[in-house]
Amino acid sequence: MKCHRCDLDTVRVMTKSPVGNEWEVYVCDTCHYSWRSTEDIHVHDVFKLKADSIPGLQQIPPIPPLKTK
Ligand SMILES: [Zn+2]
Repeated sequence: MKCHRCDLDTVRVMTKSPVGNEWEVYVCDTCHYSWRSTEDIHVHDVFKLKADSIPGLQQIPPIPPLKTK
C-alpha cells in the first residue's frame, strides 16, 4: 500500500477497531500521514509531500479546510 501524501510504500497498520474488525488505521512512517480504512481519501496536490523535502520543512503542512457541501 502506498501513502496518499508522499506516495512511498512505507505504510503500516497503526491500530484496528477494538470490536468486529471493522476498520484499520494506517500511518506512513515517512511523512506521518494517517487515515482510516473506511475513509475516501483524496489528498489535494497542494498537500502532497516528497520524502526528500520533508527534512527541510519549517512547519507541518496545515490541515486543509473541510469540504463544503
Ligand atoms: Zn507518506
